[in-house]
Amino acid sequence: MEPRSRSFHRNSEKALANPALQSAISRTTGKFLGQRADAIAEFPGFEAARDEGSRIKGEALDHLDRHLARFIAEAEKRGAVVHVARDDAEAREIAAGIATREGIALAVKSKSMAAEEVDLNTALEGAGVEVVESDLGEFIIQLAGEPPSHIIAPAVHKTREEVSRLFQEKLGEPYTDQIPELVRIARRRLREKFLSAGMGISGANFLCADTGSVVLVTNEGNGRMGTILPRVHLVVAGIEKVIPALSDLPVFLRLLPRSATGQVISTYVSVLTGVKRPEDAEGPEKLHILLVDNGRTGILQGKYREILKCIRCGACLNICPVYQSVGGHAYGWVYPGPMGSVLTPLQTGLSQGAPLANASTLCGACADVCPVKIPLPDMLLELRGDEREQGLKAPAELLGVKAYAAVMRRAGILEALERIAGVLSQLFFKEGKVPWLPFKLSGWTDRRDFPAPSPQPFRKLWKKQRGIRPWNR
Ligand code: SF4
Repeated sequence: MEPRSRSFHRNSEKALANPALQSAISRTTGKFLGQRADAIAEFPGFEAARDEGSRIKGEALDHLDRHLARFIAEAEKRGAVVHVARDDAEAREIAAGIATREGIALAVKSKSMAAEEVDLNTALEGAGVEVVESDLGEFIIQLAGEPPSHIIAPAVHKTREEVSRLFQEKLGEPYTDQIPELVRIARRRLREKFLSAGMGISGANFLCADTGSVVLVTNEGNGRMGTILPRVHLVVAGIEKVIPALSDLPVFLRLLPRSATGQVISTYVSVLTGVKRPEDAEGPEKLHILLVDNGRTGILQGKYREILKCIRCGACLNICPVYQSVGGHAYGWVYPGPMGSVLTPLQTGLSQGAPLANASTLCGACADVCPVKIPLPDMLLELRGDEREQGLKAPAELLGVKAYAAVMRRAGILEALERIAGVLSQLFFKEGKVPWLPFKLSGWTDRRDFPAPSPQPFRKLWKKQRGIRPWNR
């Protein structure tokens, strides 16, 4: 997917003018947040689990080379073929080569953000493979010709009415806005594909180094159907998905579903180890595991390494007021929301992704909900510093910040400006509010109230009451 994060402001304006989008997003994210709060309230050990999850991921990153080597050795011992791609182009080349060598004409794919990241479908289609998305959300957006807009709910931006019209138009199905009926339609369409596909493609939530296992945590049966029925299984996963041991998994199985959808446990947890053995009733004859670096080694060596702890739960997206307002497509690349605002500049370059680092009020809600305690707001702030150091900030912004700093260092000037603002606001405000601000500042008053400042500046009120200047205390 070609990054379009530089156009974040333009993309957001389009999204803000789309009330159906906001209603669809708030329906789902609101539900997830409510369920998350309930699930956590019922689990007193949640904070301790967060500490433990963060510790395990930290340990995995500290010795990633060792854990990856072990994972590869153990997976290969059990019949898998492991490939490592340095970047997205190499990942596409490897995946296309596998499909060609295995003689694949049809592949069923379950949700994989790493596959999105490397644009796997384009590569496979180029190799003559029909790729059918089998996750319900992905199935919907494939029909619509759109990328995912959320990392766990790819079609969160669509209302059920929009999905019904899409099924009517693309599949010739009769209109229905009943969700169970829409699910039945998708299931019927996909069933035949599962039975005839030569290859199933999946991501991985975790890779266990000591057993070479691939762990999938899902809510739809498509993950199992796609990894068991086809002759070949291709796993596409980032290298940071490795955890030291299978015994580390339970803590993540407690954290992930609670943080993602507020479930105590996901509907399906699959631990896939090696190829089908003679005594097994089912499983793939061939298992290819494609490990994708694509900038992760560089991130690991720098000051943002903790972002690699991310377990892709989506909680930071759901809680973020910016994501709730503009949805995922506005972010212009694969990963939206706070985690995407950190990852996108790191993976696609700061000149492309910097607008995302600035698209945050730094309210801190994302860090509060992150199950592995990633300090997302600190990272967003740090990225803004990098942007300035690399000379990517607009001169007007730098000038504004310099002027602000100069005023804040001189209390007398600040007080004088407060007085002027107080007087001016008396001339312009209406019903206790400033109705509009000029130029670019109008973005504030278009969407939010701007309460009129008090005619008496705070410092004056303080002085009157206490008889002293606040900065002399
Ligand atoms: S950054 Fe944290 S909250 Fe956001 S998706 Fe990753 S693990 Fe979840």
